[in-house]
Amino acid sequence: MSIVMPIVCTQCRIGPYARLRAALYACQRCGAQRHVAEFELASCERLTVEEGRLCIQRDRAVPDLFTVEPTHGVQAPYLRATLKRALLHELGPLAQPEQAEIAMRLRETTLTDRGPWSLTRAELGTLVVALRWRRGRAQTAVDPHVERAHENITKAIASAYASAYENDLRAMQEGKGAGQ
Ligand SMILES: [Zn+2]
Repeated sequence: MSIVMPIVCTQCRIGPYARLRAALYACQRCGAQRHVAEFELASCERLTVEEGRLCIQRDRAVPDLFTVEPTHGVQAPYLRATLKRALLHELGPLAQPEQAEIAMRLRETTLTDRGPWSLTRAELGTLVVALRWRRGRAQTAVDPHVERAHENITKAIASAYASAYENDLRAMQEGKGAGQ
């Protein structure tokens, strides 16, 4: 299975790269430019453009990355809007600077409309916190079909986060075992 991940700007660490001209790309957030030759690629990796963003495609799974596949067109906008609201809320769940940076990167670069998304444990954790916070607040009435799509992606993220956590726990236990 190959995975495709948007490349995050090396300057601001948040924005995606979009093609400027020929082999030159620019960050859509801070404008920093990068030539394709500057991206160091392993033999199993190549550059590709998805939804206007420069991405890296890998032919094999990457450890510590968890894939979540959106099944409905409303799910990516829902997650991005949830992160935006949580970020705007001064006393919200993303008050830590590291979490705010992760949330901005997810919103601006990682969570493409179509997916699938390859997410780290920290990214999944940030999404879980933001989604939980949003559910605890007054909900505006939405179409039941849309509501179900929102619930499904919330569950998919929670279960990916749980499996990320289990992996960590197992690695820790195996580490302990090896030390005995
Ligand atoms: Zn940038």
